[in-house]
Amino acid sequence: MKGVAEPIFDVIVIGTGIGGSSLTALSAHAGLKTLVLEKNPRIGGSCSYYEKDGFHIDFGTHLFTRGIRGPISEVLKRVGADSRVKFVHPTFFSRLVGLGLDIPVYTTPFAAPLFIYRSRQLGIPFRELPGVIKLMSDLFRMPEKQIAEWKNRTVEEFVFTYTRNPAVLSLISMITTLYFVYPYWKCSAGEMIWCTQRIIKARRFSYCRGGAVAIPKAMLEAAQKKGATLLTQARVRKIILENGVARGVELADGRSFRGRAVVGTRSLKDTVFNLVGPEPFPAEFRTRVENLKESMNAIQIKLALGRKVIRETSMIAVGSPSGNYRIQTASPDQVRKVWEDVEAGRIPELLFLYVVAPSNIDPALDPPGKQLLNVATPFPHTKTRPQDPPEAWVEAMMKTLLEAVPEIGPHILWKEVIGPQAIESWIGKPGGPCISTVQIPGQVAEDRPDIRSPIPGLYFAGDGAGARGIGTELAAQSAINCSEILDSDFRNGRIP
Ligand SMILES: Cc1cc2nc3c(=O)[nH]c(=O)nc-3n(C[C@H](O)[C@H](O)[C@H](O)COP(=O)(O)OP(=O)(O)OC[C@H]3O[C@@H](n4cnc5c(N)ncnc54)[C@H](O)[C@@H]3O)c2cc1C
Repeated sequence: MKGVAEPIFDVIVIGTGIGGSSLTALSAHAGLKTLVLEKNPRIGGSCSYYEKDGFHIDFGTHLFTRGIRGPISEVLKRVGADSRVKFVHPTFFSRLVGLGLDIPVYTTPFAAPLFIYRSRQLGIPFRELPGVIKLMSDLFRMPEKQIAEWKNRTVEEFVFTYTRNPAVLSLISMITTLYFVYPYWKCSAGEMIWCTQRIIKARRFSYCRGGAVAIPKAMLEAAQKKGATLLTQARVRKIILENGVARGVELADGRSFRGRAVVGTRSLKDTVFNLVGPEPFPAEFRTRVENLKESMNAIQIKLALGRKVIRETSMIAVGSPSGNYRIQTASPDQVRKVWEDVEAGRIPELLFLYVVAPSNIDPALDPPGKQLLNVATPFPHTKTRPQDPPEAWVEAMMKTLLEAVPEIGPHILWKEVIGPQAIESWIGKPGGPCISTVQIPGQVAEDRPDIRSPIPGLYFAGDGAGARGIGTELAAQSAINCSEILDSDFRNGRIP
Protein backbone atom coordinates (compact mmCIF):
# COMPACT_ATOMS: atom_id res chain seq x y z
CA MET A 1 0.00 0.00 0.00
CA LYS A 2 1.28 3.48 -0.85
CA GLY A 3 2.12 5.89 1.99
CA VAL A 4 2.82 3.42 4.82
CA ALA A 5 3.00 6.31 7.29
CA GLU A 6 -0.81 6.66 7.57
CA PRO A 7 -2.37 5.88 10.93
CA ILE A 8 -4.04 2.52 11.42
CA PHE A 9 -7.74 2.68 12.26
CA ASP A 10 -9.77 -0.07 13.86
CA VAL A 11 -12.72 0.63 11.59
CA ILE A 12 -12.99 2.49 8.30
CA VAL A 13 -16.58 3.36 7.31
CA ILE A 14 -17.45 4.29 3.73
CA GLY A 15 -20.33 6.80 3.51
CA THR A 16 -22.11 9.18 5.89
CA GLY A 17 -25.77 8.33 5.18
CA ILE A 18 -27.81 7.11 8.13
CA GLY A 19 -26.05 3.73 7.89
CA GLY A 20 -22.51 5.13 7.87
CA SER A 21 -23.06 7.88 10.44
CA SER A 22 -24.87 5.48 12.82
CA LEU A 23 -22.07 2.96 12.56
CA THR A 24 -19.35 5.61 12.98
CA ALA A 25 -21.01 6.91 16.15
CA LEU A 26 -21.53 3.44 17.60
CA SER A 27 -18.06 2.26 16.79
CA ALA A 28 -16.33 5.40 18.15
CA HIS A 29 -18.50 5.11 21.24
CA ALA A 30 -17.32 1.52 21.70
CA GLY A 31 -13.75 2.85 21.88
CA LEU A 32 -12.73 1.83 18.37
CA LYS A 33 -10.49 4.21 16.44
CA THR A 34 -12.82 5.08 13.57
CA LEU A 35 -12.41 6.86 10.24
CA VAL A 36 -15.43 7.74 8.10
CA LEU A 37 -15.01 8.74 4.47
CA GLU A 38 -17.59 10.66 2.48
CA LYS A 39 -17.20 11.38 -1.23
CA ASN A 40 -19.51 14.45 -1.17
CA PRO A 41 -18.64 17.87 0.24
CA ARG A 42 -21.59 17.52 2.63
CA ILE A 43 -22.49 14.65 4.93
CA GLY A 44 -25.78 12.74 5.08
CA GLY A 45 -26.22 10.78 1.83
CA SER A 46 -29.93 10.70 1.09
CA CYS A 47 -30.50 12.66 4.33
CA SER A 48 -28.29 15.51 3.11
CA TYR A 49 -29.45 18.99 2.06
CA TYR A 50 -28.59 22.12 0.12
CA GLU A 51 -29.59 25.77 0.34
CA LYS A 52 -31.17 28.10 -2.18
CA ASP A 53 -32.64 31.60 -1.74
CA GLY A 54 -32.79 31.12 2.02
CA PHE A 55 -34.59 27.73 1.81
CA HIS A 56 -33.02 24.72 3.54
CA ILE A 57 -33.81 21.92 1.09
CA ASP A 58 -33.67 18.25 2.05
CA PHE A 59 -31.89 16.27 -0.61
CA GLY A 60 -34.35 13.36 -0.45
CA THR A 61 -35.50 11.80 2.80
CA HIS A 62 -38.25 13.30 4.94
CA LEU A 63 -40.16 10.77 6.89
CA PHE A 64 -38.92 8.80 9.90
CA THR A 65 -41.69 6.30 10.44
CA ARG A 66 -41.03 5.45 14.10
CA GLY A 67 -39.27 8.66 15.25
CA ILE A 68 -38.19 8.54 18.88
CA ARG A 69 -39.37 4.94 19.17
CA GLY A 70 -37.34 3.58 16.26
CA PRO A 71 -33.77 2.44 15.62
CA ILE A 72 -32.47 5.91 14.71
CA SER A 73 -33.33 7.10 18.18
CA GLU A 74 -31.83 3.93 19.61
CA VAL A 75 -28.48 4.84 17.99
CA LEU A 76 -28.72 8.42 19.28
CA LYS A 77 -29.45 7.16 22.79
CA ARG A 78 -26.58 4.66 22.74
CA VAL A 79 -24.12 7.42 21.84
CA GLY A 80 -25.60 10.02 24.20
CA ALA A 81 -26.84 12.30 21.41
CA ASP A 82 -30.60 11.86 21.74
CA SER A 83 -31.08 15.40 23.04
CA ARG A 84 -29.41 16.72 19.85
CA VAL A 85 -32.25 15.62 17.54
CA LYS A 86 -35.77 16.84 18.02
CA PHE A 87 -38.24 14.55 16.30
CA VAL A 88 -41.62 16.14 15.75
CA HIS A 89 -44.71 14.02 15.51
CA PRO A 90 -47.41 16.07 13.76
CA THR A 91 -51.11 15.51 14.43
CA PHE A 92 -52.35 16.65 11.01
CA PHE A 93 -50.04 14.31 9.26
CA SER A 94 -51.26 13.87 5.75
CA ARG A 95 -54.06 14.22 3.21
CA LEU A 96 -55.01 12.06 0.25
CA VAL A 97 -56.11 14.50 -2.40
CA GLY A 98 -56.99 14.46 -6.12
CA LEU A 99 -59.33 12.50 -8.41
CA GLY A 100 -62.27 13.79 -6.36
CA LEU A 101 -60.81 12.59 -3.05
CA ASP A 102 -59.97 14.68 0.00
CA ILE A 103 -59.28 12.44 2.99
CA PRO A 104 -57.32 13.87 5.92
CA VAL A 105 -55.03 11.57 7.90
CA TYR A 106 -54.47 12.53 11.52
CA THR A 107 -52.16 10.57 13.80
CA THR A 108 -54.50 10.78 16.79
CA PRO A 109 -57.09 8.00 17.24
CA PHE A 110 -59.62 10.75 18.11
CA ALA A 111 -59.72 11.69 14.43
CA ALA A 112 -60.61 8.12 13.35
CA PRO A 113 -64.35 8.91 12.96
CA LEU A 114 -63.54 11.79 10.56
CA PHE A 115 -61.21 9.50 8.59
CA ILE A 116 -63.86 6.79 8.36
CA TYR A 117 -66.51 9.33 7.37
CA ARG A 118 -64.37 10.83 4.61
CA SER A 119 -63.27 7.37 3.42
CA ARG A 120 -66.80 6.96 2.07
CA GLN A 121 -65.38 8.83 -0.94
CA LEU A 122 -63.51 5.62 -1.81
CA GLY A 123 -66.85 4.07 -2.72
CA ILE A 124 -66.23 0.71 -1.03
CA PRO A 125 -69.58 -1.16 -1.26
CA PHE A 126 -71.15 -2.27 2.02
CA ARG A 127 -70.92 -5.97 1.08
CA GLU A 128 -67.12 -5.70 0.81
CA LEU A 129 -66.61 -4.11 4.21
CA PRO A 130 -66.21 -7.38 6.21
CA GLY A 131 -63.27 -8.43 3.95
CA VAL A 132 -61.70 -4.98 4.19
CA ILE A 133 -62.09 -4.88 7.98
CA LYS A 134 -60.53 -8.35 8.29
CA LEU A 135 -57.64 -7.22 6.09
CA MET A 136 -57.00 -4.19 8.31
CA SER A 137 -57.29 -6.26 11.44
CA ASP A 138 -54.76 -8.85 10.19
CA LEU A 139 -52.44 -6.14 8.92
CA PHE A 140 -52.39 -4.54 12.37
CA ARG A 141 -52.53 -7.63 14.59
CA MET A 142 -51.18 -10.70 12.78
CA PRO A 143 -48.92 -12.72 15.11
CA GLU A 144 -45.18 -12.94 14.34
CA LYS A 145 -45.34 -16.63 13.39
CA GLN A 146 -47.95 -15.93 10.73
CA ILE A 147 -46.04 -12.85 9.49
CA ALA A 148 -43.06 -15.15 8.91
CA GLU A 149 -45.28 -17.37 6.75
CA TRP A 150 -46.02 -14.36 4.52
CA LYS A 151 -42.39 -13.32 4.03
CA ASN A 152 -42.04 -15.08 0.67
CA ARG A 153 -45.49 -14.16 -0.63
CA THR A 154 -46.38 -10.82 -2.14
CA VAL A 155 -48.48 -7.89 -0.97
CA GLU A 156 -50.81 -8.56 -3.92
CA GLU A 157 -51.45 -12.13 -2.75
CA PHE A 158 -52.08 -10.84 0.76
CA VAL A 159 -54.68 -8.27 -0.37
CA PHE A 160 -56.44 -10.74 -2.70
CA THR A 161 -56.97 -13.11 0.24
CA TYR A 162 -59.49 -10.56 1.55
CA THR A 163 -60.70 -8.33 -1.26
CA ARG A 164 -60.32 -7.27 -4.88
CA ASN A 165 -61.75 -3.85 -4.19
CA PRO A 166 -59.96 -1.35 -6.49
CA ALA A 167 -59.76 1.48 -3.97
CA VAL A 168 -58.24 -0.77 -1.32
CA LEU A 169 -55.79 -2.25 -3.83
CA SER A 170 -54.85 1.23 -5.13
CA LEU A 171 -54.27 2.52 -1.58
CA ILE A 172 -52.20 -0.48 -0.52
CA SER A 173 -50.17 -0.23 -3.72
CA MET A 174 -49.36 3.39 -2.82
CA ILE A 175 -48.49 2.60 0.79
CA THR A 176 -46.20 -0.25 -0.34
CA THR A 177 -44.49 2.17 -2.71
CA LEU A 178 -43.99 4.66 0.11
CA TYR A 179 -42.39 1.92 2.21
CA PHE A 180 -40.25 0.11 -0.34
CA VAL A 181 -40.36 2.15 -3.61
CA TYR A 182 -41.19 -1.00 -5.51
CA PRO A 183 -44.37 -2.52 -7.03
CA TYR A 184 -46.75 -4.15 -4.54
CA TRP A 185 -47.00 -7.32 -6.61
CA LYS A 186 -43.27 -7.89 -6.10
CA CYS A 187 -42.84 -6.79 -2.45
CA SER A 188 -42.87 -9.18 0.50
CA ALA A 189 -46.22 -9.20 2.30
CA GLY A 190 -44.54 -10.37 5.52
CA GLU A 191 -42.19 -7.39 5.53
CA MET A 192 -44.99 -4.98 4.71
CA ILE A 193 -47.06 -6.34 7.63
CA TRP A 194 -44.02 -6.33 9.95
CA CYS A 195 -43.26 -2.68 9.14
CA THR A 196 -46.92 -1.59 9.43
CA GLN A 197 -47.24 -3.16 12.86
CA ARG A 198 -44.08 -1.43 14.10
CA ILE A 199 -45.34 1.93 12.78
CA ILE A 200 -48.76 1.49 14.37
CA LYS A 201 -47.24 0.40 17.68
CA ALA A 202 -44.78 3.31 17.77
CA ARG A 203 -47.39 5.89 16.67
CA ARG A 204 -44.57 8.32 15.96
CA PHE A 205 -44.53 9.22 12.24
CA SER A 206 -41.94 11.98 12.46
CA TYR A 207 -39.84 14.59 10.80
CA CYS A 208 -37.06 16.39 12.67
CA ARG A 209 -36.10 19.96 13.36
CA GLY A 210 -33.18 21.21 11.30
CA GLY A 211 -34.11 18.94 8.37
CA ALA A 212 -33.20 15.30 7.83
CA VAL A 213 -29.48 16.13 7.98
CA ALA A 214 -29.82 16.94 11.71
CA ILE A 215 -29.66 13.19 12.35
CA PRO A 216 -26.36 12.24 10.65
CA LYS A 217 -24.92 15.55 11.89
CA ALA A 218 -25.70 14.69 15.53
CA MET A 219 -24.33 11.17 15.08
CA LEU A 220 -21.09 12.32 13.47
CA GLU A 221 -20.55 15.05 16.06
CA ALA A 222 -20.98 12.44 18.80
CA ALA A 223 -18.47 10.24 16.98
CA GLN A 224 -15.95 13.06 16.62
CA LYS A 225 -16.22 13.80 20.34
CA LYS A 226 -15.07 10.22 20.89
CA GLY A 227 -12.11 10.73 18.58
CA ALA A 228 -13.50 9.59 15.21
CA THR A 229 -12.08 11.21 12.08
CA LEU A 230 -14.46 12.45 9.38
CA LEU A 231 -13.18 13.27 5.91
CA THR A 232 -15.48 14.73 3.26
CA GLN A 233 -14.57 14.92 -0.43
CA ALA A 234 -12.89 11.58 0.17
CA ARG A 235 -14.12 9.16 -2.48
CA VAL A 236 -13.07 5.57 -1.92
CA ARG A 237 -11.87 4.03 -5.17
CA LYS A 238 -10.80 0.68 -3.88
CA ILE A 239 -10.92 -1.53 -0.81
CA ILE A 240 -7.47 -2.99 -0.28
CA LEU A 241 -6.99 -6.65 0.54
CA GLU A 242 -3.76 -8.16 1.85
CA ASN A 243 -3.54 -11.96 1.86
CA GLY A 244 -7.30 -12.19 1.42
CA VAL A 245 -8.06 -9.86 4.37
CA ALA A 246 -9.55 -6.32 4.09
CA ARG A 247 -6.80 -3.99 5.24
CA GLY A 248 -7.74 -0.48 4.16
CA VAL A 249 -8.95 1.77 1.39
CA GLU A 250 -7.51 3.79 -1.43
CA LEU A 251 -9.13 7.11 -2.36
CA ALA A 252 -9.68 8.53 -5.83
CA ASP A 253 -7.15 11.30 -5.01
CA GLY A 254 -4.44 8.71 -4.29
CA ARG A 255 -4.48 8.85 -0.49
CA SER A 256 -4.80 5.55 1.31
CA PHE A 257 -5.71 4.54 4.86
CA ARG A 258 -5.08 1.35 6.75
CA GLY A 259 -7.76 -0.20 8.92
CA ARG A 260 -8.41 -3.51 10.64
CA ALA A 261 -12.03 -3.58 9.44
CA VAL A 262 -13.68 -1.86 6.49
CA VAL A 263 -17.45 -1.30 6.33
CA GLY A 264 -19.14 -0.38 3.04
CA THR A 265 -22.49 1.42 3.18
CA ARG A 266 -22.65 1.95 -0.57
CA SER A 267 -24.84 -0.65 -2.27
CA LEU A 268 -23.62 -4.14 -1.48
CA LYS A 269 -23.44 -5.07 -5.17
CA ASP A 270 -21.26 -2.09 -5.88
CA THR A 271 -18.99 -2.67 -2.88
CA VAL A 272 -18.42 -6.26 -3.99
CA PHE A 273 -18.05 -5.77 -7.73
CA ASN A 274 -16.44 -2.32 -7.92
CA LEU A 275 -14.71 -1.43 -4.67
CA VAL A 276 -13.25 -4.91 -4.10
CA GLY A 277 -13.70 -6.70 -7.44
CA PRO A 278 -15.41 -10.07 -7.84
CA GLU A 279 -12.38 -12.42 -7.81
CA PRO A 280 -11.75 -12.81 -4.07
CA PHE A 281 -15.38 -13.78 -3.33
CA PRO A 282 -16.66 -17.37 -3.53
CA ALA A 283 -18.70 -18.06 -6.70
CA GLU A 284 -21.92 -18.77 -4.77
CA PHE A 285 -21.69 -15.43 -2.96
CA ARG A 286 -20.99 -13.59 -6.24
CA THR A 287 -24.07 -15.11 -7.85
CA ARG A 288 -26.23 -14.22 -4.85
CA VAL A 289 -25.02 -10.59 -4.92
CA GLU A 290 -25.37 -10.33 -8.69
CA ASN A 291 -29.02 -11.36 -8.38
CA LEU A 292 -29.93 -8.89 -5.62
CA LYS A 293 -32.69 -6.50 -6.65
CA GLU A 294 -32.66 -2.78 -5.90
CA SER A 295 -35.72 -0.56 -5.50
CA MET A 296 -36.70 2.11 -7.99
CA ASN A 297 -35.22 5.60 -8.02
CA ALA A 298 -37.34 8.81 -7.95
CA ILE A 299 -37.98 12.16 -9.58
CA GLN A 300 -38.20 15.04 -7.15
CA ILE A 301 -39.44 18.57 -7.74
CA LYS A 302 -38.45 21.18 -5.18
CA LEU A 303 -41.13 23.84 -5.41
CA ALA A 304 -40.65 27.23 -3.74
CA LEU A 305 -43.86 29.10 -2.92
CA GLY A 306 -44.18 32.82 -2.10
CA ARG A 307 -46.55 32.03 0.78
CA LYS A 308 -47.54 29.14 3.00
CA VAL A 309 -50.20 27.21 1.14
CA ILE A 310 -50.49 23.79 2.72
CA ARG A 311 -51.02 23.12 6.42
CA GLU A 312 -50.36 19.40 6.69
CA THR A 313 -46.86 17.92 6.93
CA SER A 314 -47.29 15.71 3.90
CA MET A 315 -49.82 14.98 1.19
CA ILE A 316 -50.44 12.17 -1.22
CA ALA A 317 -51.66 13.84 -4.39
CA VAL A 318 -53.08 11.65 -7.15
CA GLY A 319 -54.20 12.31 -10.69
CA SER A 320 -54.83 10.53 -13.93
CA PRO A 321 -52.85 12.05 -16.82
CA SER A 322 -54.91 10.01 -19.33
CA GLY A 323 -58.16 10.78 -17.50
CA ASN A 324 -59.03 7.05 -17.55
CA TYR A 325 -58.33 6.02 -13.97
CA ARG A 326 -60.95 6.06 -11.24
CA ILE A 327 -59.79 4.82 -7.85
CA GLN A 328 -63.31 3.51 -7.10
CA THR A 329 -63.70 1.38 -10.24
CA ALA A 330 -60.24 0.46 -11.63
CA SER A 331 -59.82 -3.27 -12.30
CA PRO A 332 -57.02 -5.20 -10.52
CA ASP A 333 -55.26 -5.42 -13.92
CA GLN A 334 -55.48 -1.64 -14.28
CA VAL A 335 -53.96 -1.15 -10.81
CA ARG A 336 -51.14 -3.53 -11.63
CA LYS A 337 -50.55 -1.81 -14.98
CA VAL A 338 -49.94 1.49 -13.13
CA TRP A 339 -46.88 0.08 -11.44
CA GLU A 340 -45.74 -1.87 -14.52
CA ASP A 341 -45.75 1.47 -16.32
CA VAL A 342 -43.84 3.20 -13.51
CA GLU A 343 -41.19 0.46 -13.62
CA ALA A 344 -40.85 0.96 -17.38
CA GLY A 345 -40.69 4.75 -17.02
CA ARG A 346 -44.02 5.18 -18.85
CA ILE A 347 -46.32 7.85 -17.41
CA PRO A 348 -49.01 5.75 -15.72
CA GLU A 349 -52.78 6.17 -15.69
CA LEU A 350 -52.61 6.88 -11.96
CA LEU A 351 -49.86 9.31 -11.05
CA PHE A 352 -48.97 9.27 -7.39
CA LEU A 353 -47.08 12.16 -5.75
CA TYR A 354 -45.67 12.29 -2.26
CA VAL A 355 -45.60 15.95 -1.22
CA VAL A 356 -43.88 17.17 1.95
CA ALA A 357 -43.79 20.65 3.50
CA PRO A 358 -40.91 20.43 6.03
CA SER A 359 -41.36 23.98 7.34
CA ASN A 360 -44.72 22.95 8.80
CA ILE A 361 -42.53 21.09 11.31
CA ASP A 362 -39.61 23.50 11.50
CA PRO A 363 -40.52 27.02 10.32
CA ALA A 364 -36.82 28.00 10.36
CA LEU A 365 -36.24 25.90 7.21
CA ASP A 366 -37.95 28.44 4.91
CA PRO A 367 -37.63 32.23 4.68
CA PRO A 368 -40.43 33.92 6.69
CA GLY A 369 -43.85 33.57 5.04
CA LYS A 370 -42.62 31.26 2.26
CA GLN A 371 -43.01 27.51 1.82
CA LEU A 372 -40.96 24.84 0.11
CA LEU A 373 -42.71 21.72 -1.15
CA ASN A 374 -40.87 18.51 -1.99
CA VAL A 375 -42.83 16.65 -4.63
CA ALA A 376 -41.64 13.13 -5.42
CA THR A 377 -42.75 10.19 -7.50
CA PRO A 378 -41.07 6.81 -8.08
CA PHE A 379 -39.12 6.43 -11.30
CA PRO A 380 -37.05 3.54 -12.69
CA HIS A 381 -33.40 3.38 -11.74
CA THR A 382 -30.95 4.74 -14.23
CA LYS A 383 -30.17 1.32 -15.72
CA THR A 384 -33.67 1.27 -17.29
CA ARG A 385 -34.21 3.44 -20.33
CA PRO A 386 -37.50 5.21 -19.54
CA GLN A 387 -40.29 5.06 -22.13
CA ASP A 388 -41.19 8.67 -21.36
CA PRO A 389 -38.36 11.12 -20.65
CA PRO A 390 -38.04 12.68 -17.18
CA GLU A 391 -39.11 16.08 -18.61
CA ALA A 392 -42.48 14.60 -19.65
CA TRP A 393 -42.84 13.15 -16.15
CA VAL A 394 -42.09 16.52 -14.57
CA GLU A 395 -44.79 18.11 -16.72
CA ALA A 396 -47.29 15.38 -15.73
CA MET A 397 -46.32 15.73 -12.06
CA MET A 398 -46.91 19.49 -12.12
CA LYS A 399 -50.27 19.05 -13.88
CA THR A 400 -51.35 16.42 -11.32
CA LEU A 401 -50.25 18.58 -8.39
CA LEU A 402 -51.98 21.71 -9.67
CA GLU A 403 -55.20 19.84 -10.41
CA ALA A 404 -55.19 18.24 -6.96
CA VAL A 405 -54.16 21.39 -5.07
CA PRO A 406 -54.97 24.36 -7.36
CA GLU A 407 -54.26 26.92 -4.62
CA ILE A 408 -50.52 26.25 -5.11
CA GLY A 409 -50.46 27.59 -8.71
CA PRO A 410 -50.46 31.38 -8.18
CA HIS A 411 -47.68 31.24 -5.56
CA ILE A 412 -44.92 29.33 -7.34
CA LEU A 413 -41.62 31.26 -7.20
CA TRP A 414 -39.44 28.62 -8.84
CA LYS A 415 -39.07 24.92 -9.31
CA GLU A 416 -35.99 22.77 -9.38
CA VAL A 417 -35.84 19.13 -10.46
CA ILE A 418 -33.65 16.48 -8.87
CA GLY A 419 -33.75 13.72 -11.45
CA PRO A 420 -32.70 10.08 -11.22
CA GLN A 421 -29.14 10.76 -12.44
CA ALA A 422 -28.63 13.45 -9.78
CA ILE A 423 -29.84 11.06 -7.07
CA GLU A 424 -27.55 8.31 -8.33
CA SER A 425 -24.57 10.59 -8.43
CA TRP A 426 -25.20 12.06 -4.95
CA ILE A 427 -25.76 8.78 -3.07
CA GLY A 428 -23.13 6.98 -5.15
CA LYS A 429 -25.20 3.81 -5.51
CA PRO A 430 -25.34 2.65 -9.13
CA GLY A 431 -28.85 3.07 -10.54
CA GLY A 432 -29.76 5.47 -7.68
CA PRO A 433 -32.09 3.08 -5.83
CA CYS A 434 -33.97 4.50 -2.83
CA ILE A 435 -33.40 1.13 -1.09
CA SER A 436 -30.35 -0.74 -2.30
CA THR A 437 -31.53 -4.26 -1.36
CA VAL A 438 -35.30 -3.99 -1.74
CA GLN A 439 -37.76 -5.93 0.43
CA ILE A 440 -38.97 -8.66 -1.89
CA PRO A 441 -39.31 -12.39 -1.19
CA GLY A 442 -35.82 -13.85 -0.72
CA GLN A 443 -34.42 -10.46 0.45
CA VAL A 444 -36.19 -9.98 3.79
CA ALA A 445 -35.83 -11.05 7.43
CA GLU A 446 -33.23 -13.82 7.77
CA ASP A 447 -32.86 -13.92 3.98
CA ARG A 448 -31.31 -10.44 3.82
CA PRO A 449 -27.66 -10.39 2.78
CA ASP A 450 -25.30 -10.88 5.72
CA ILE A 451 -23.50 -7.98 7.32
CA ARG A 452 -20.34 -10.13 7.56
CA SER A 453 -18.82 -10.69 4.14
CA PRO A 454 -16.90 -13.83 3.18
CA ILE A 455 -13.71 -11.70 3.29
CA PRO A 456 -12.28 -11.31 6.83
CA GLY A 457 -12.36 -7.66 7.90
CA LEU A 458 -14.97 -6.63 5.29
CA TYR A 459 -18.53 -5.81 6.42
CA PHE A 460 -21.66 -4.27 4.92
CA ALA A 461 -24.12 -1.88 6.59
CA GLY A 462 -26.86 0.53 5.53
CA ASP A 463 -29.95 -0.34 3.51
CA GLY A 464 -28.13 -3.05 1.56
CA ALA A 465 -27.52 -5.69 4.23
CA GLY A 466 -29.13 -7.17 7.33
CA ALA A 467 -31.96 -5.73 9.46
CA ARG A 468 -35.62 -4.94 8.81
CA GLY A 469 -37.63 -1.75 8.48
CA ILE A 470 -38.24 1.18 6.21
CA GLY A 471 -35.46 3.17 4.50
CA THR A 472 -33.55 5.16 7.09
CA GLU A 473 -34.66 2.89 9.93
CA LEU A 474 -33.51 -0.17 8.02
CA ALA A 475 -30.13 1.53 7.55
CA ALA A 476 -29.88 2.50 11.25
CA GLN A 477 -30.86 -0.98 12.43
CA SER A 478 -28.33 -2.51 10.07
CA ALA A 479 -25.65 -0.25 11.62
CA ILE A 480 -26.67 -1.32 15.13
CA ASN A 481 -26.40 -4.98 14.09
CA CYS A 482 -23.08 -4.33 12.34
CA SER A 483 -21.58 -2.60 15.39
CA GLU A 484 -22.55 -5.58 17.57
CA ILE A 485 -20.99 -8.00 15.07
CA LEU A 486 -17.82 -5.90 14.91
CA ASP A 487 -17.64 -5.81 18.69
CA SER A 488 -17.97 -9.60 18.86
CA ASP A 489 -15.44 -10.14 16.04
CA PHE A 490 -12.87 -7.85 17.66
CA ARG A 491 -13.33 -9.60 21.01
CA ASN A 492 -13.14 -13.10 19.53
CA GLY A 493 -10.07 -12.42 17.43
CA ARG A 494 -11.93 -12.84 14.14
CA ILE A 495 -10.44 -9.52 13.02
CA PRO A 496 -6.66 -9.99 12.81
C1 LIG B 1 -34.97 10.46 -2.91
C2 LIG B 1 -35.07 9.54 -1.72
C3 LIG B 1 -36.10 9.74 -0.78
C4 LIG B 1 -36.19 8.89 0.34
N1 LIG B 1 -37.16 9.15 1.28
C5 LIG B 1 -37.16 8.42 2.44
C6 LIG B 1 -38.02 8.79 3.52
O1 LIG B 1 -38.77 9.76 3.45
N2 LIG B 1 -37.95 8.03 4.66
C7 LIG B 1 -37.10 6.97 4.78
O2 LIG B 1 -37.07 6.33 5.85
N3 LIG B 1 -36.29 6.60 3.76
C8 LIG B 1 -36.29 7.31 2.61
N4 LIG B 1 -35.41 6.98 1.59
C9 LIG B 1 -34.57 5.79 1.75
C10 LIG B 1 -33.48 6.05 2.76
O3 LIG B 1 -33.01 7.35 2.63
C11 LIG B 1 -32.33 5.07 2.55
O4 LIG B 1 -32.81 3.75 2.53
C12 LIG B 1 -31.30 5.17 3.68
O5 LIG B 1 -31.19 6.45 4.17
C13 LIG B 1 -29.99 4.71 3.13
O6 LIG B 1 -28.97 4.99 4.06
P1 LIG B 1 -27.52 4.48 3.74
O7 LIG B 1 -26.66 4.90 4.84
O8 LIG B 1 -27.60 3.02 3.41
O9 LIG B 1 -27.09 5.16 2.36
P2 LIG B 1 -27.12 6.63 1.78
O10 LIG B 1 -27.94 7.58 2.54
O11 LIG B 1 -27.46 6.44 0.34
O12 LIG B 1 -25.63 7.07 1.92
C14 LIG B 1 -24.57 6.50 1.20
C15 LIG B 1 -23.38 7.44 1.38
O13 LIG B 1 -22.21 6.83 0.86
C16 LIG B 1 -21.47 7.82 0.17
N5 LIG B 1 -20.60 7.15 -0.79
C17 LIG B 1 -21.00 6.39 -1.85
N6 LIG B 1 -19.92 5.93 -2.50
C18 LIG B 1 -18.83 6.39 -1.85
C19 LIG B 1 -17.43 6.25 -2.05
N7 LIG B 1 -16.95 5.55 -3.07
N8 LIG B 1 -16.58 6.86 -1.19
C20 LIG B 1 -17.07 7.59 -0.14
N9 LIG B 1 -18.38 7.77 0.08
C21 LIG B 1 -19.25 7.17 -0.75
C22 LIG B 1 -22.53 8.67 -0.48
O14 LIG B 1 -22.03 9.92 -0.90
C23 LIG B 1 -23.56 8.75 0.63
O15 LIG B 1 -23.29 9.83 1.50
C24 LIG B 1 -35.28 7.81 0.48
C25 LIG B 1 -34.25 7.62 -0.47
C26 LIG B 1 -34.14 8.47 -1.53
C27 LIG B 1 -33.00 8.27 -2.52
